[in-house]
Amino acid sequence: MKITDLKCTVMGNSPIVRIVTDEGIEGYGQIEHSKPYVKPQVLFYKQFIVGEDPTNVERVVMKIRRLGGFKPWGSAVSAIEVALWDIAGKAAGLPVYKLLGGKVRDQVRVYNTGGYVPLKDQSPASYAEIVSHQKNGPEGFTMVKQGVSWHSGMPQAVPDFTYGEVRTGPVHINKGPLTQKGLYHVIECVEAMKAALGPEIGLAIDCGPGWLIPDAIRLAKAVEPLNLMWLEDLITGDYSPHVSARVYREVTQATSTPIHTGEQIYLRNNFMELIEGQCVRVVGPDPLDVGGLAELKWVAEYADLHSILMAPHGVIDGVFGLAGLVHATATMPQNYVAFEYANAEHKWWYDIVTGLPNPIVKNGLIEVWDRPGLGVEFIKDKAVKYLPAGDEDFFE
Ligand SMILES: [Mg+2]
Repeated sequence: MKITDLKCTVMGNSPIVRIVTDEGIEGYGQIEHSKPYVKPQVLFYKQFIVGEDPTNVERVVMKIRRLGGFKPWGSAVSAIEVALWDIAGKAAGLPVYKLLGGKVRDQVRVYNTGGYVPLKDQSPASYAEIVSHQKNGPEGFTMVKQGVSWHSGMPQAVPDFTYGEVRTGPVHINKGPLTQKGLYHVIECVEAMKAALGPEIGLAIDCGPGWLIPDAIRLAKAVEPLNLMWLEDLITGDYSPHVSARVYREVTQATSTPIHTGEQIYLRNNFMELIEGQCVRVVGPDPLDVGGLAELKWVAEYADLHSILMAPHGVIDGVFGLAGLVHATATMPQNYVAFEYANAEHKWWYDIVTGLPNPIVKNGLIEVWDRPGLGVEFIKDKAVKYLPAGDEDFFE
């Protein structure tokens, strides 16, 4: 089998990768809907993979892996890798999880980020209210996550939140020392959320990036009695083009609260220092940023050797990203916690694909499905109307 074409379109704001072969088998990958601008980068890789056998996934990805980078520049390579697994599975008549080593579990746990309604304001009461929505949703989530401090509107909404200057611009641009007032506000909001959730629902907190070591340790120690699932991205994280492993190690060593990072990191190589140095307790790569499903699985295995937990990122990876996460996490070792449930950007996504369970999440779990490849397919006559002008031939 040979790859004859690599196509990319943007549906809603999600870049969609389609790899076409000479045997009529096609594969799909999807990129976070925050990155419609990476379409040209996806198409750049076409010249390197046309003519290759897509069922030799690693051999194909080796041609393009060096030409990627940390989030957002790892997503194109990652989505191509996912589409190759989709083809390899269909060609073999096997679900992708079989090709990644086989199922370790029949159901995969997911957690919810953000909730179903907008946060009213930055008060502890509003944070308590929104996690109650997450807790009481029909999916029966057993774990939820919320953003605070630099990963929220607090710097703008809470007067004198920081001793530094509050900046505006691209996401997560802020960093600086917190005032006592700012720090106590964060702690009060976290305490209010945990009180609303009770002991039966796990709470994870997305914090940054942007904290400095003294404040990070103060926060982590202050919330120790709450037994949080983790504090995420305190130092570096979302869109940081580096890892800061030794800084993370300082924080991790100072507290019993689990420290988490990894969603922006590209490739297994960039997890080595974090994992070998026991710098965090939980890693959270995103398959659509780290380099794909096999890359994610490798990081999970290496983390397990070091007693580090695995909780992949994925909240805006869309329906094909969700499928990839289900297959990859089904094969992970027992350090697996849960992945961040991927919501489609628009409700219409669920009407233009087949293969997803209905409902998708029950009791906080997704049943792993057995259809070949990713097991999710476009209903092309319904999907075409969401193709942008100029890409009407995407499915042809
Ligand atoms: Mg995050």
